[in-house]
Amino acid sequence: MTPTQIQQRIKQLQRRLARLGPMHPGSLGEQYNVCGTPGCRCKAPQAPHKHGPYYQLSYCWRGKSSSRFVRPERVAAMREKVANYKRFRELVNEWVDLALELERAERVPARTSDGD
Ligand SMILES: [Zn+2]
Repeated sequence: MTPTQIQQRIKQLQRRLARLGPMHPGSLGEQYNVCGTPGCRCKAPQAPHKHGPYYQLSYCWRGKSSSRFVRPERVAAMREKVANYKRFRELVNEWVDLALELERAERVPARTSDGD
């Protein structure tokens, strides 16, 4: 790619980044639990029916791990936020790839002309 093409790709990425909606780092997991109530269906000897699912959001940010439960009615919105964050990271990585490539593309002609 020429420097101009690379710059165009970077502009595309910037537009896609600007359009991203709400985001949240992490991943959502489902949990099923057993409780302490004697005779509860969750501990039935045959075909136990555990409580859940409980949705747990786990993430690490600035070196700190966090985990919390997400209410069922907010799971769909959180999935969307987690997907947006993933997309955000992909776009940023692509941008950095292109920035490095642009740097190389701009260096090469200068080096050639030095040799003239
Ligand atoms: Zn139970």
